[in-house]
Amino acid sequence: MYPKSLRELIDSLKYLPGVGEKTAERYAFSLINQDEEKVEALSEAILSSKKNIKKCVVCNGLSEDEKCGICSDKDRDKSVLCVVEDPKSIFIFEKLGAFNGIYHVLSGLISPLDGISPNDIGLDKLIDRIKKEKFKEIILAFKPSIEGETTSLYIKRVLEGLDVSITKIASGIPMGADMEYIDTITLERALKDRKSVE
Ligand SMILES: [Zn+2]
Repeated sequence: MYPKSLRELIDSLKYLPGVGEKTAERYAFSLINQDEEKVEALSEAILSSKKNIKKCVVCNGLSEDEKCGICSDKDRDKSVLCVVEDPKSIFIFEKLGAFNGIYHVLSGLISPLDGISPNDIGLDKLIDRIKKEKFKEIILAFKPSIEGETTSLYIKRVLEGLDVSITKIASGIPMGADMEYIDTITLERALKDRKSVE
């Protein structure tokens, strides 16, 4: 029914999160009605971000260079490390503007039920980094969930005996809430009121 290229466009758009057939159709029709330059700019932007964005070698955050802007910034406090579960969380915290330390990004959280073990989320690299760099505080900033708790406790246990304080962002964030949907006041308060991992 749809011409082949339109069908392909709709199917491609369905790779995006939350986009089903209906939304994909709406986007596709909107795209074919746009000026050619706009569509070209969009496809260029998609291609270039895919090609140029890579993982920072230090923190695993997103970067166009080997080292990201935060890791290379001399004004950041290198004694406080905020550990997050995905690269997007960095942008959420940066938007708050309430944190001046540096970050480390894991590839998700430990989830025994889904067969995700400490090795799968890159915890070895984090632990190495903590042992090498002299941090005063490690802030665990995971979404409140069983997986977040499991990961926090695991990190706490592995780091036992090291002279570093391990804290996590405070509760007040609803269980299971995704970081990006937590309002900034709640998140800023959670960051400020962080407490020791017990
Ligand atoms: Zn970095």
